Amino acid sequence: ALLVRQRMKSSGRWACARALVKEFEEKCGTPDARLKQIADALTVEMHAGLASEGGSKLKMLISYVDNLPTGDEEGIFYALDLGGTNFRVLRVELGGRERGVVHQEFAEASIPPALMSGSSDALFDYIAEKLAAFVADEERIYEQPAGKERELGFTFSFPVMQNSINSGTLIRWTKGFSIDDAVGQDVVVEITKALKRKGVDMRVAALVNDTIGTLAGGRHSNPDVSVAVILGTGSNAAYVERAQAIPKWHGPLPKSGEMAINMEWGNFRSSHLPLTEYDSAMDAESLNPGEQIFEKLISGMYLGEVLRRVLLRLAEETCFFGDEVPAKLKSPFILRTPEMSAMHHDTSADLKVVDDKLRSILEISHTSLKKRRVVVELCDITASRGARLAAAGIFGVLKKTGKDVVKDNGEKTIIAMDGGLFEHYTEYRKCLEKTVFELLGDTTGSSVVFQHYNDGSGIGAALLAASHSLYLEEKL
Ligand code: BGC
Ligand code: MG
Repeated sequence: ALLVRQRMKSSGRWACARALVKEFEEKCGTPDARLKQIADALTVEMHAGLASEGGSKLKMLISYVDNLPTGDEEGIFYALDLGGTNFRVLRVELGGRERGVVHQEFAEASIPPALMSGSSDALFDYIAEKLAAFVADEERIYEQPAGKERELGFTFSFPVMQNSINSGTLIRWTKGFSIDDAVGQDVVVEITKALKRKGVDMRVAALVNDTIGTLAGGRHSNPDVSVAVILGTGSNAAYVERAQAIPKWHGPLPKSGEMAINMEWGNFRSSHLPLTEYDSAMDAESLNPGEQIFEKLISGMYLGEVLRRVLLRLAEETCFFGDEVPAKLKSPFILRTPEMSAMHHDTSADLKVVDDKLRSILEISHTSLKKRRVVVELCDITASRGARLAAAGIFGVLKKTGKDVVKDNGEKTIIAMDGGLFEHYTEYRKCLEKTVFELLGDTTGSSVVFQHYNDGSGIGAALLAASHSLYLEEKL
């Protein structure tokens, strides 16, 4: 094969490369008609997931949040946000209706990769240590009233089967975490034990998914927020459902008549999804084969990796980067989505950024402009597919909740958005928004507002801790 490859004339190689790119593009195709089928398939799964536990690949998890923040929340609360590569500790001072969020402070730390696949105790000890340091630090400034425990909203961005607002067992890990002995454990029990080990006196008042936190944070600043979507390392959506429309809910009917649902849409799967051989290979080699298929198509952890796989194929089959296949290109997850985004947004005439990234990350030098253009083209194909599929997901949620009709009275649906992909990957975001309007048939793009709530999930968790505080009565 090597001989054949070497003999292949460079014009032949170029034709092969073009054919490969074209084939990838076709397989990634997301015409509107297909997106509508995907949205319909999603709503079917939503119904099935709400009907019975295990009724669908879509878990449609009950959050036990039947009252979103009103604005009356008051006091000092903590939040812990664990979900991707970083985690954050927050201290939020809520001043009630008049003053809103008066003050917030946070500390951020990255999770050492080894802890992402170690033991449950090691992970929670590490988190508890950071929390202890944060509390010790601010203790010098803020004194905790005697006899009153600090209260924490814990944003834990993985699928959890909740038993109450502050308990729930981990169903499985996603996004590169795989700590076997934590699966099936109550994460509140685990963090509480670790806090005790580290001498931190704190009570978990609310356990929430990041989508639920963002929904709560969004609602606090805008009462019209009823859907939240995370597009970051992973992806997911939450929304407010009518309690009557949740057959699997056997608890008392909430006074509000509503319940926030954590869809776990990352695990959605449908025969309509445009999967390529690159996706199948990535999935097969992943920590969670067969799972989180939708997430693997749309979220930040995977976009760069899909791109790498296509580039590798180009290198192997068409000597795209010279006769030798660049060694770095063989290394999984070496090409991260922020880097891909930087290349995609390169506006310089000679595609300087693409050149820089290829050199610094993949040790590929001296690419022609023509080849750099192909790299940008592949970024575009991969990101557009992801953004358009995410848009189909949003359209499906709007359909399920009857918000897919464009009102002529100017009424808008506000979607609370968060996650690094949405925040930083401009082309992705623009494509997502445009596609949602396209699917809605909204030619003026005015029926939906995509509102970015930076760190909405952390503040949301603090707000939910406030509304589930032990000391609530004292305040009322
Ligand atoms: C998790 C969700 C989470 C999402 C965004 C997914 O991998 O399963 O629980 O909401 O990532 O952080
Ligand atoms: Mg997050």
